[in-house]
Amino acid sequence: MSKSKSSESVKVVVRCRPMNEKERAAGFERMVSVDVKLGQILVRNPREASAAELPKIFTFDSVYDWNSKQIDLYDETFRPLVDSVLLGFNGTIFAYGQTGTGKTYTMEGVRNDPDRRGVIPNSFEHIFTHISRSQNQQYLVRASYLEIYQEEIRDLLSKDQTHRLELRERPDTGVYVKDLSSFVTKSVREIEHVMNVGNQNRSVGATNMNEHSSRSHAIFVITVECSELGVDGENHIRVGKLNLVDLAGSERQTKTGAQGERLKEATKINLSLSALGNVISALVDGRSSHIPYRDSKLTRLLQDSLGGNARTVMVANIGPASYNVEETLTTLRYANRAKNIKNKPHINEDPKDALLREFQEEIARLKEQLEKRVGKKKKRQRRKAGDGSEGQDEAEMEEDDDDGDDKGDYWREQQEKLEKERKAIMEDHSLVAEEKARLLKEKERKMEDLRMEKEAGEMLAAKVKAMESKLLVGGKNIVDHTNEQQRMLEQRRQEIAEQKRREREMQQQMESRDEETLELKETYSSLQQEVDIKTKKLKKLFNKLQAVKAEIQGIQEEHIEMRQEHEQTQNELTRDLKLKHLIIENFIPLEEKKKIANRAVYDDEDDCWKMKPITRMEDDHQMMSRPLSAVGYRRPLSQHARMAMMMKPDTRYKAENILMLDMELPARTTKDYQEPVIAPKVAAALENALRDEDEIQVDASGFHSSLGPTPPGSASSSLMKPKSGRPRTGKKSSTPTSFSPSSPGSLHYPQSRGLVPK
Ligand code: ADP
Ligand code: MG
Repeated sequence: MSKSKSSESVKVVVRCRPMNEKERAAGFERMVSVDVKLGQILVRNPREASAAELPKIFTFDSVYDWNSKQIDLYDETFRPLVDSVLLGFNGTIFAYGQTGTGKTYTMEGVRNDPDRRGVIPNSFEHIFTHISRSQNQQYLVRASYLEIYQEEIRDLLSKDQTHRLELRERPDTGVYVKDLSSFVTKSVREIEHVMNVGNQNRSVGATNMNEHSSRSHAIFVITVECSELGVDGENHIRVGKLNLVDLAGSERQTKTGAQGERLKEATKINLSLSALGNVISALVDGRSSHIPYRDSKLTRLLQDSLGGNARTVMVANIGPASYNVEETLTTLRYANRAKNIKNKPHINEDPKDALLREFQEEIARLKEQLEKRVGKKKKRQRRKAGDGSEGQDEAEMEEDDDDGDDKGDYWREQQEKLEKERKAIMEDHSLVAEEKARLLKEKERKMEDLRMEKEAGEMLAAKVKAMESKLLVGGKNIVDHTNEQQRMLEQRRQEIAEQKRREREMQQQMESRDEETLELKETYSSLQQEVDIKTKKLKKLFNKLQAVKAEIQGIQEEHIEMRQEHEQTQNELTRDLKLKHLIIENFIPLEEKKKIANRAVYDDEDDCWKMKPITRMEDDHQMMSRPLSAVGYRRPLSQHARMAMMMKPDTRYKAENILMLDMELPARTTKDYQEPVIAPKVAAALENALRDEDEIQVDASGFHSSLGPTPPGSASSSLMKPKSGRPRTGKKSSTPTSFSPSSPGSLHYPQSRGLVPK
C-alpha cells in the first residue's frame, strides 16, 4: 500500500459460510465452490437441469471458503487496512450480504472465543499492540458506535436511546453526525467495554433482535490520532478513522411477504442499501457526473469510503446452499461492481478537528497554571526561609525532585504554622476578648483559604494527570522478549499473506493472458493439427461466449425483477398518496391548503418539509401593523367616538361591553315560616291523638264537628293506632291544623315547611 495520493481500487473479498445444521439436515446441495488459490467463486445454477450448464465464475481480490479462520481473514485482508489507519489514512470495512450469511460473524464474531473473534475485536488488539510498541509517539484512541435504522441515526453509546441524531456537513471536515458521543479509550479492555455497551443498547429497542439487525446498519468508528515530532521540530498530528460497518441484510424484502407497515419499513431499508448500490453503479459507470450520495444517510455518512479519501474493503458474505443461489448471485454481482470503485486515499495530516491537539494544548495550559501556583508558593517559602540563596537552591532542587512530596511538606508546614499562631492567640491573655475573637477569626479564614488553595491545586494536578493518562505512549515494553517474538511471528504471517496474494494475482493474470498469447506462440506442424487446436480454442471461446450470454440474461432477469418490485412499491405509495389527497380535498378548506402550500419549504438538510415561520417582514404586507387609532383599544375608533366616550358614558360609543353585566340576584320566592295560631283545645286534642296508645284516653265526642267529615270508624282507629307514629298527611292538607311545637307530639311532626329552613 502506497502513501501516495494516487487512486486505488476498493478491495473486495468474498466469504462463504459453512452449511449450517439445518441445511445439512434438510439435505441441501452445495452450489458454491471456492477456488482460494485463484480467488474465484463458482456458482452452479440449480434451475438449469442440464449438467452441461457451466458454473458462473466470479473473480475477486481474495476469497474465503467455509474452512477459513477469522485470523486468516484478518492477517490477509484487514491487517494492512488497519495498519494504514494507524498511519493516518481513513479506512472502511463493509460487510455485505444476505441475512444469516456471516456478516456479524465476520465483523464481531464470537466474543469470548479468541479464535472466532471478528474484525472489530481483532482490530482493538492490533491497534493497542501497535501503540505499545511505538516510540516517541503520542496516541489518542476514541470510539463511537451508531446505528441507522429506517433512515434514522441512533447513537448506541448515549444514555438517551430515544434521541435521533442528524447529519451535518462542514466544508473543512465533511459530513459528520452532530452530537455523536465518542469515548476516549486507553486499553483493549476499555474499548471492548464501549463495544459491549453499544451492543446492549442495540438490542434494547428491538423486539426481535434478528429482524432488527437484519434491517439496520451498525457502524463502529475508531479514530486514532498520533502525534509525532517532525523533522521541522514541530509536533505533527495524523488522524486515521476506521469505520467498521455491518450492513443490513441485502435480501429482497418482497420475498418475505412484507405488508403494510412492514413494507414501509422495508422500502426505507432498501433506501440505504439501494442508495449504496446506486452510488457504486454511478461511480463505476464513469459516465455519470452526479453521484447520488445524498440519497441516504448511509451513503452520505460514508461518502469518503466510496470514491473518496479512504481505503475500503468490502466483504461479501454468501451462503452455499441451493436455496440461496439467487441471492448469492446478486451479492456476487454487487461485489463485482464494487471492485471497480477508485478511491483516492491520503494521510490526514494536521486536521483542524484533531482532538489530540486540543488535549495537548489543554494539558500545557493546566500545567502552566499549576506551575504558577507552585511558583507563588515557592516565593512565599523563600521569603519565609529568610536566606534567599539557600531557599532558591532548595526550591530548584525540589522542583527537579518529587513534586508531590514537596507540596505535601509545604501544606503541612503552612497548616502547622497557622495552628501555632492560633494557639498563641488563644493563650495570649493580654488581648481583649473582642480583639482575640477577631484575630482568631482571621486565622481561621486564612486556614480555610489555605485549604481551598490546596484543594484547587490538587484538583488541577489530578486533571492534568487524568488527561495525560488518556494520551498513550508506547515504547515501555519494547525490550520485552516475548513481544519481540510475537512481532516476528506477525511479520512472518503478514509476509506469507502477501506472498499468497501475489501468487494469486499472478495466476489470475496468467489465466487471462493465456488465451491471448497462446495463439501467437504456437506453430503448427500440419493443417490438421491447426484445425484441431483451433477447434478446441473455438470451443473454449464459444463456452465463454455462452457464459457471458448467460450472465447477461441473468442480469437482465434480475433487473426486470427489481423493476417490478420498484413498480409495486411505487403503486403502493401512489395509493397511499391518493388517500392523503382524498383527505385533504375533503377536510381541508381550499384557502388553508393554499396557505400551507405557500409556506412549506423543503429542508434538504433534514430531508423533510417544513413550515416557514410567519414573521413580519419589511415589505411583507400580509401582516399589517396595528392602526394608530386602535392603540389601547381592541379595535380602531374614530376621533368622534373617542371624544363622545370621554364626555358622557354613552353606550353607543363603547366599543366593548355594551351590555351591562351587573350581577342580578334572583328575587326570593318563599316566606319565613309563621306558626299558625291554634286554639288551645285543638292543640290538646292533637296532643292526645299523637300520644302512644296506652296513654290514650278516648274522649272524642266533642271534636267531631271541628275535625271535619272523617268517617267515624276510621277517625277513632286512626287516633287509636298511629302505627307508623306518623299522622296522615293527606288529611292534614284538607284541614290545616297545627299544634304547638313545644308539645311532646312535635317530634313526630315536621318542624318547618317550604324552602326556607327555620
Ligand atoms: P448475518 O449477520 O449476516 O445475518 P451471522 O453473522 O449472524 O449472519 O451468521 C449467522 C450464523 O452463521 C451464526 O450463527 C454464525 O455463527 C454462523 N456463521 C456465519 N459465518 C460463519 C463461518 N464462517 N464459520 C462458522 N459459522 C459461521
Ligand atoms: Mg447480523
